Amino acid sequence: DDFSGLGLSSKVTEAVAAAGYTKPTEIQAQAIPHLLEKKDLIGIAQTGTGKTASFVLPMLTLLEAGRARARMPRTLILEPTRELAAQVSENFEKYGKNHRLSMALIIGGVSFEDQNKKLDRGVDVLIATPGRLLDQFDRGKILLTGVEILVIDEADRMLDMGFIDDIEKIASRLPPRRQTMLFSATMDPQIERLTKKFLKDPVHVQV
Ligand code: AMP
Repeated sequence: DDFSGLGLSSKVTEAVAAAGYTKPTEIQAQAIPHLLEKKDLIGIAQTGTGKTASFVLPMLTLLEAGRARARMPRTLILEPTRELAAQVSENFEKYGKNHRLSMALIIGGVSFEDQNKKLDRGVDVLIATPGRLLDQFDRGKILLTGVEILVIDEADRMLDMGFIDDIEKIASRLPPRRQTMLFSATMDPQIERLTKKFLKDPVHVQV
């Protein structure tokens, strides 16, 4: 019941060991093997369960194959607030310290000029709040046609904050052949509708 049996790459398991984790949490043990098989996933889990690593660790492993091209992020992570987006980026830095992946943050309070330079060079991971992302997308600054993985995190908070329409707009601009993960603390008819529209044959994990 340690991290070695989950199928994660050695770069990732080494970073996890360096973080001092000896054992996957329940959501990690349940979700990671499916995510490594590129399955879509609905994860019902609260913050504090190790939810972030449950998607960041397999993503890092999957991103080891392939490379980023200019303006075409390979993975898109949507967060309801800039604070959560910043936390997820810190997790990527911690668990991805053995990787040479590039990351950009498209959130309020972060200068788009700096992020734009990164996007020009190609980013593997784009972490964004929905409104800000749509704004930059509508200005033609970001191409979403190369997205291989979409994460909709904290879907229930997205709903509370009125972001569901923005998420629908974003998801409908992504290539249909991709992996999609949705995490939420609770299920709700509107979230259910979103999963039916944008996830394919998802695995359900609840902790
Ligand atoms: P999260 O639910 O993603 O907000 O994570 C909650 C906290 O658990 C974070 O501070 C992580 O650093 C920590 N954490 C994540 N996975 C593990 C693990 N397998 N063992 C111990 N701590 C962990």
